[in-house]
Amino acid sequence: MNGIEVEIDNLSGFCYGVIRAIETAEKELEKNGILFSLGEIVHNNVEVNRLKNKGLYTISHENIGKVEPKKILIRAHGEPPETYETAQKSGIEIIDCTCPVVLKLQERIKRAYEEAKRCDGVIVIFGKKRHAEVNGLVGQTEGNAIVIENVDEVAQIDCSRPVFLFSQTTKSSEGFEELRKIIADKIEQSGGDLAMFKAYNTICRQVSGRKPHLENFARKHDVVIFVSGKQSSNGKVLYQSCKNANPNSYFVEQADDINPEWFADCKTVGVCGATSTPKWLMEEIAEQIGSEFTEF
Ligand code: SF4
Repeated sequence: MNGIEVEIDNLSGFCYGVIRAIETAEKELEKNGILFSLGEIVHNNVEVNRLKNKGLYTISHENIGKVEPKKILIRAHGEPPETYETAQKSGIEIIDCTCPVVLKLQERIKRAYEEAKRCDGVIVIFGKKRHAEVNGLVGQTEGNAIVIENVDEVAQIDCSRPVFLFSQTTKSSEGFEELRKIIADKIEQSGGDLAMFKAYNTICRQVSGRKPHLENFARKHDVVIFVSGKQSSNGKVLYQSCKNANPNSYFVEQADDINPEWFADCKTVGVCGATSTPKWLMEEIAEQIGSEFTEF
């Protein structure tokens, strides 16, 4: 086999929120040489290690008050109000890198929660339980929001009450639409008032816009290498889109995960990734495929 053509997807890589958080951290590291991120700054081990070498350390909530210097970074996912209170009590300065899209969503949920309290409504969040962004969203409701991971969990919602439905920013639009319909059906079947059901598709455009683009990209190539951290929610969603469009799609975290056998009889390879995948890593992987596996 000779001359594999490798293309990197031009829309893959860090989204606006992640770029903003990493740039802020790097500026701070240039000044002080050390900084603590509350949770991994991005769901990508390779990038987390690169930044660790520059002095960015990941800490958990239990250690907020113990850091020295007394400064922590809040990543793009955001945090619930309790985190800000804990930091304030411990005299810790916060560098807040909550993505503006997430911040807006937190504010919307907070307002909806106030309305829900007045009408005995219920806040439902379509998202992954205990995911950092979801924790931040649930925190806007004094912990009272119900988190639904999939349609099988709809039974948990009391549809006789007004329902306010939101989504974690990185879920799939199809999943949200399916959930919206099932809740609407359940309200109708139980004789409830559909006018009291408010569904807000709050999926980030940086994620939903990439899906159709990635499907076209995946169809164009014999083999697709999708690069992402395993913990990345949008990585899972976007990889599934690639896999549906092209069954020869493979999920890798780093170059070592690549199996040369994937490229047998292959002429073109597409390299793409999640909103948490660094461009430099995709470039490194593309280069390796082009040089090492061409003669396989
Ligand atoms: S995916 Fe969207 S909401 Fe999430 S950090 Fe990126 S830009 Fe912000």
